[in-house]
Amino acid sequence: MPTYQYRCPTCGHEFEEFQSMTEDPIEVCPQCQGKTKRLISGGAGVLFKGSGFYQTDYRSSSYKKDAQKEKSDSAASSAASSSSGSAAKSDAPKGK
Ligand SMILES: [Zn+2]
Repeated sequence: MPTYQYRCPTCGHEFEEFQSMTEDPIEVCPQCQGKTKRLISGGAGVLFKGSGFYQTDYRSSSYKKDAQKEKSDSAASSAASSSSGSAAKSDAPKGK
């Protein structure tokens, strides 16, 4: 016979009952006569083992940052301003 676990959300009372599968679940809290909830227990096979779900997830935030960095293309190398200064007039020194 499975053990059913009940919990009363009204007063917080928890209790267990041996019941056959065919029996109706207990719906009334023995303490406050409120409505109880049956919890899953005993061989139901719901196991919450350690989870590794987020391992790949939290890494992505830093990855995103990197991707957002925009490569600013430096302006095409424009030719240097016209070269000048080669044809300088050399003034003859005025003799005084
Ligand atoms: Zn109760």
